[in-house]
Amino acid sequence: MPDKPDKLDKLEGTCPICNQGDVITITMSVSGSDLSFTTCHLCEAKWWYRDGEPVPLRSVIGGVIPQRR
Ligand SMILES: [Zn+2]
Repeated sequence: MPDKPDKLDKLEGTCPICNQGDVITITMSVSGSDLSFTTCHLCEAKWWYRDGEPVPLRSVIGGVIPQRR
């Protein structure tokens, strides 16, 4: 059983997708909003939240990476 690293921002228990992996949440501030990225390091499921609300991945990327026009 691998040791859990204790320097990660947050650990929020077990992944609801695979029911085995631990999920990791990283919170950052983007454009004045709190953006949280949660991922399972076993099955690589990903979730994004902005100010506590789930957001589609595509709109998050649009907010983080400037798009060329
Ligand atoms: Zn998982």
